[in-house]
Amino acid sequence: MGIDRNLYLGPYAKTTTEVVSKEEDRCGHLPLDTQEKFCSECGTRISDRIYRHKGDAVSFYPEEAWKNPDALSSTSWVGPPEIYKKGEKEYRDYLWLPNASRPGKPKRKGVSNVDKHDEVVIDIQNVDIEAEIEWFKTAYPELQKLEEAFGNLTVGWGFIQWFS
Ligand SMILES: [Zn+2]
Repeated sequence: MGIDRNLYLGPYAKTTTEVVSKEEDRCGHLPLDTQEKFCSECGTRISDRIYRHKGDAVSFYPEEAWKNPDALSSTSWVGPPEIYKKGEKEYRDYLWLPNASRPGKPKRKGVSNVDKHDEVVIDIQNVDIEAEIEWFKTAYPELQKLEEAFGNLTVGWGFIQWFS
């Protein structure tokens, strides 16, 4: 087992969700004010029945929203992104990159496999960033579904590193 470093340069989308406290009842068979110590149905210890954890306010599953769930790749398939605070609230940003090959996709040899090369030079002086962003928005209608689900979406262009 190893950790792969992934590198990307180009247009990307970012969606943000608030992270909220969630409670789950692991039993559900007995009333909450039961005097029992264990549930006779599922065996759950009543003092442990409520599971409190932090979770995303918006949960998005591409396989349910898109015909082709691989249309965009996320940098967080392996694990959720880090939580950050803004004011009193906590958030997570999800990054989405073009994945399915669609006409006009910018080709940058070496960017996705930089660790396999000793040295890579990517000259970006003549890259038409605005055109690549426009291409991304047009070629991936899935972005609209993301925006609907999260209630926000920004498109940017840049260098992204993540681990998988
Ligand atoms: Zn139970």
